[in-house]
Amino acid sequence: MPQSFDVIVLGVGGMGSAACFELARRGRRVLGLEQFPLVHARGSSHGHTRIIRTAYAEGPAYVPLAKRAFEKWYELEQLTGRHLLTECPCLNVGPPESEHVAGVRASVSAHQLAAEELTGHEINRRFPAFNFPTDYSGVVEQAAGFLYVEECVRAHIDSAMSLGAEIHAEEPVRAWKTVGNGVELTTDKGTYRAAKLVVTAGAWATKLLADIGVPLRVMRQVLLWFGTGKRPERFRRDHFPIFIADVQGMPFYGLPAIDAFGAKVARHYGAPELPDPKGVNWEVTGEDVNAMRENFADFLPGLGEFTKGQVCMYTVTPDKHFVIDLHPEFPQVSIACGFSGHGFKFAPTVGEVLADLAEHGNTKHDIGMFSARRTL
Ligand SMILES: Cc1cc2nc3c(=O)[nH]c(=O)nc-3n(C[C@H](O)[C@H](O)[C@H](O)COP(=O)(O)OP(=O)(O)OC[C@H]3O[C@@H](n4cnc5c(N)ncnc54)[C@H](O)[C@@H]3O)c2cc1C
Repeated sequence: MPQSFDVIVLGVGGMGSAACFELARRGRRVLGLEQFPLVHARGSSHGHTRIIRTAYAEGPAYVPLAKRAFEKWYELEQLTGRHLLTECPCLNVGPPESEHVAGVRASVSAHQLAAEELTGHEINRRFPAFNFPTDYSGVVEQAAGFLYVEECVRAHIDSAMSLGAEIHAEEPVRAWKTVGNGVELTTDKGTYRAAKLVVTAGAWATKLLADIGVPLRVMRQVLLWFGTGKRPERFRRDHFPIFIADVQGMPFYGLPAIDAFGAKVARHYGAPELPDPKGVNWEVTGEDVNAMRENFADFLPGLGEFTKGQVCMYTVTPDKHFVIDLHPEFPQVSIACGFSGHGFKFAPTVGEVLADLAEHGNTKHDIGMFSARRTL
């Protein structure tokens, strides 16, 4: 007889680990199946840090979800005694026509968030590592910070397991199917049954969920760290904020130097779209480093030598909004995918939503815009 559970979570990365935790704390018998070793660097939830922010450029509807995520990250810190989130202001900056900065302003206005408007000149004076054109402007918000991404995933996994969840590493799911009102999953080690399935397969959802009609694409994204040059204090977090810069049609972002690797900078989007993770080159190339320097050196003139790089994957939907829903055909299956390069901060909120969907088929959170049935 196959082993039986209340819920199986397929993919234990950023979102799956949060779902395992939330279901286990509600007393559900949970099995999490992960194809790689736990907390690995071959998906989308690695690279030391992730930005968390509230004045959400991608739409005011995300703001309540971000506020809930802050509460849940702090709660996880309290439960585990681990430091997961460091508060740090976030500067959103761009030229007058910047859609990103306009989006931030729309969320500030819709939710009456605390934020400060700065001219380009004021930005360069307050944060001396920057050299943005003076016709740029920006919005600084204090309700932001960065999460230690691997620690967060580990904290969710450890907490889930201490509450009785079974989590199997290095056990890829080869197939899933519905059986009556439940589901059956097959791996190389066995067959498992459950009343409910939660699919949190990240970039691999492109294949596992090909039938739901959401055209997911994978983007190789490179994280780069640079030394702090002759003025290291300028890149410290007392002088350097998290920033998201909407420049030359090529948004990029960065975080202060919090260790010997220096400041972290990366491009947001802009890479070729791939059908699945197979085509991803996991090596950081000289071309990656040179492209970053060529495009962005003017804005950060004091950046030092390249120290470290890591490759990671975005799983992108056409409108860059998430997919969090019941499977359109099988209500015993919930899905959370297509986080389009901005999902990690929401992981504990998504975990809560997925537990709600598995338990009740609905949630009190407003997830209407993440429908799998929306026109994409
Ligand atoms: C470079 C980069 C920077 C980012 N910056 C930010 C940021 O600053 N702020 C932010 O909020 N978000 C950011 N994001 C986005 C965020 O990290 C992702 O949206 C989030 O981590 C996605 O989590 P996930 O659970 O969907 O994917 P993953 O964490 O990749 O989890 C999916 C898991 O499913 C497993 N899996 C897949 N198929 C199977 C199978 N058949 N059997 C078993 N296991 C399987 C995979 O191995 C993987 O562990 C960034 C992403 C990248 C790549």
